[in-house]
This record gives sequence, C-alpha cells and structure tokens, in this order.
Amino acid sequence: VVGGGVVGLACALELLRAGHEVTLLVRNEKEAASRVAGGMLAPFSEGLTDELLEFSVESLGLWREFLETVKELSNRSVFFSKGILRVAKDERELDELKKLRSYYLKRFCSSAELAEGEELGKLYPKLSEKLAGGVFYEEEGNVDTEELTEALFTAFLRLGGELRREGALRVNRDGERVLSVKTHSGKLEADYFVFAAGAWTKELFDVPVFPVKGQIARAELPPDGPPFVVYARDAYLIPREKDLLLGATTERAGFDARPTVKGASALTGNALSVLPALEEAEFYELRVGFRPGTPDGKPVFYFGENFALVSGHYRNGILHAPLTARLVFLLIERREVSPYFQKFSPYRFRRT
Ligand SMILES: Cc1cc2nc3c(=O)[nH]c(=O)nc-3n(C[C@H](O)[C@H](O)[C@H](O)COP(=O)(O)OP(=O)(O)OC[C@H]3O[C@@H](n4cnc5c(N)ncnc54)[C@H](O)[C@@H]3O)c2cc1C
Repeated sequence: VVGGGVVGLACALELLRAGHEVTLLVRNEKEAASRVAGGMLAPFSEGLTDELLEFSVESLGLWREFLETVKELSNRSVFFSKGILRVAKDERELDELKKLRSYYLKRFCSSAELAEGEELGKLYPKLSEKLAGGVFYEEEGNVDTEELTEALFTAFLRLGGELRREGALRVNRDGERVLSVKTHSGKLEADYFVFAAGAWTKELFDVPVFPVKGQIARAELPPDGPPFVVYARDAYLIPREKDLLLGATTERAGFDARPTVKGASALTGNALSVLPALEEAEFYELRVGFRPGTPDGKPVFYFGENFALVSGHYRNGILHAPLTARLVFLLIERREVSPYFQKFSPYRFRRT
C-alpha cells in the first residue's frame, strides 16, 4: 500500500485483518492531508448530491463500526462527536438548505431538525443573531483526525504490518500489470498494489488529481464554546476535546505549504461572523494541508490486473475512508468490482 493517509491506512488495515501480509510505503507521515483535516463526516452539511452523496452516505453508515474497530485494535482513544449544525447566513441560503433537507429526508437521513430565526438560539445560544437559521443533522459527526491517524498506525503495527518510511519514486508497469514499485532503496514487488497517494497521485499515475490547499486554524475552546460542529458556507467551527478548529480555506496554489496572513484573516473573520464570542479565545496556530482535488470534485478509482488506485477524495476523504477500504478489500479478496469503480473511473474525464 502506497500512502500513509487515512485512505491508505484504512485499506492496509482491512487487508491485514483478512490475513494478508501488508507493507505500507509512506514518504512523509506529516504531509498527509488526513492529519490536518477537520474530520467532519458531513455529506448533508456539505450539500452533496448524486453519486457522491450516495457514496458518502454509504460510507457514513460504516463509520461507527470502523471507529470501534480502530480503537479496539490500537487500544487508543479517538475523540468523536455526534451531529453537525448547518447554519444559513441569510434567507436565500436558508431556503436552499430547506430544499436540500427535504431531499435528504426522503432517502438519505432520518433526522434533520430545522431551526428558523430565533429558534437557532435554542440549539446554541452563543451563535450570531444575524444568522437566518439552520438544520441539525444528527447522523453526521466529527472525528479527531490526528488521534485517528495515530490509532490507525498503531493498529497497523500491532497487527504485524510492515511500515517503510520511504517514497515510491516510480511505478513499473506492463500494461495493466504493476511489476514493481521503485524506491530509493530498490524495487518493491508484491502480489497486489494499492495506491492511495492523495494529492501527490499524479507523480505516479497519469490521472487528473491536483492539490487544493486548505488552511485551518486551531484556537482555544472557550468554556461556553459550541457543543457540536457548526458549519456555515464560509466557515466551520469544530470543537474537539481540548481545542477548536476554524476551517478552512480552499486555494489553488500548488503545493505551497505556507500559512498566510490572508488565510488567517479569512478564517478568523468568517468564524467570528458565526460566533462573535470567540473574539477573546487564544489563537494557537494555522495549519496547511493539500486536498486531493479532481476536476469534478469526485474521487478517482481505477484498477488493473494486480493493483488498485484510490484517490481524489477532495473534501471528504476522512468520511470516505471506510467504504473505500471495503471496496478495495472486496476487489482483492473476492474479485468483486463495485459499480463505484465505474462511476469514479478516470475515463470520465476523457469523454468530455
Ligand atoms: C484543511 C482541510 C480540511 C479538511 N476537512 C475534511 C473534513 O472535515 N472531512 C473529510 O472527510 N475530509 C476533509 N478534508 C479532506 C481530507 O483530508 C482528504 O480527502 C483525505 O485526507 C485524503 O486522504 P488520503 O489518504 O487520500 O491522502 P493524504 O491524507 O494526503 O495521504 C497521502 C499520503 O500519501 C503519501 N504519499 C504521497 N505520495 C507518495 C509516494 N510517492 N510514495 C509514498 N508515499 C506517498 C503522503 O506522504 C501521505 O502520507 C480536509 C482537508 C483539508 C486540507
């Protein structure tokens, strides 16, 4: 398995649990977007539609079991909170949220409490009075991604996985067959290869995956901070056990890893417009991560004779990890090809 983000780790763990010998190739654990991510499991708050919504909701359904398994196998705790409040800044946006809510309630979720105007204050009184309303999606959630990544690595090692801290430099292929992966220390051969290299996928395969820079701030969690994630169109506030994340910018800036003044200003300004009481909270730091973006914002899945490529999870890779790992497992173990391999095939970009 190439890639030490949540997607690669989830695939590696699923394969180890099935009794396979797994080697994980990780160039740099710290650069993974998975560590920086807000960790929201939020298909509804994100406003997803079509096959991306279907995939995301299916993966959300696997999340609780996935988390319990990771905690059990690693013997580590991983902070998780339930429910996300999607707020609207004006009446027009609230109308859009209401339409989406009705659509989601028909097929995709069973709980979506609507709060209009002052009713919002009953859910959390500190919110800005200027907000028009919101919808509370109880089935959504949030996971501490640093704890999750650590727990996944621990579980991987405890199950006997081999971790190699080096990069894949090149994939040697003969058509649809991967012969080996070249690294600085030599050539790595395997019965099967899984590539989950996130935003760096293009270094190994000719697929349209590119980095989308995201800056996210970490601040003090005030004593009367939000009891759940609050998600607005230009800001989200994620309360964790000991801090509060303020997310996130979306920038096309290549692999520019610098936190910027503009980023800090946008994140804090937008967060304050949702939660003015945040003003005096201590500002801790600004982090940068690279989402694996694609031209249509949907994943890129591909498989050959003895390899699978799973990438392009863009804004929802944490949410998507359990289902992606399950599909890779089914492909390798049972030769079952999920329809998602077709829906998210890179060939869709060649047709247009
Ligand atoms: C600011 C921000 C907020 C986000 N918030 C959310 C959120 O709330 N919810 C959500 O679901 N998603 C969120 N995301 C998106 C999510 O982080 C990504 O979709 C997800 O982490 C992708 O996981 P991955 O494992 O594919 O890639 P990554 O986590 O980026 O991991 C890729 C790994 O591959 C390794 N690698 C790359 N190339 C090679 C190579 N050649 N050889 C060896 N190793 C290699 C890298 O070192 C890295 O370890 C957010 C992202 C950002 C930046």
